[in-house]
Amino acid sequence: MRITCPLCGPRDRREFYYYGSEDYLTRPEGEDWDAIDAHLHLRNNPAGRVRDLWYHDMGCTSWLVVTRDTVTHEVFGAALVADGGVSISAKMKSKGGAA
Ligand SMILES: [Zn+2]
Repeated sequence: MRITCPLCGPRDRREFYYYGSEDYLTRPEGEDWDAIDAHLHLRNNPAGRVRDLWYHDMGCTSWLVVTRDTVTHEVFGAALVADGGVSISAKMKSKGGAA
């Protein structure tokens, strides 16, 4: 599997550290400990398209949101978390540009 880092280009997935679902980017507010416990420990294991956090450990050390298919292993794109996890092509679409 290859992941195209927005800063480094196409790289082997072994250069990256897999962290988990992008759900980790949105934390529950307040002190609802049940919600915090669920946020930290309960995850779905979907078959199909997912968005996950990956760390480019052996490259630019950026956090990425990678969109991929857990069944086919196809990677649809990667975006920097620092840019809000929205790929460049998605930004262009929202502005009416070409993808
Ligand atoms: Zn990189």
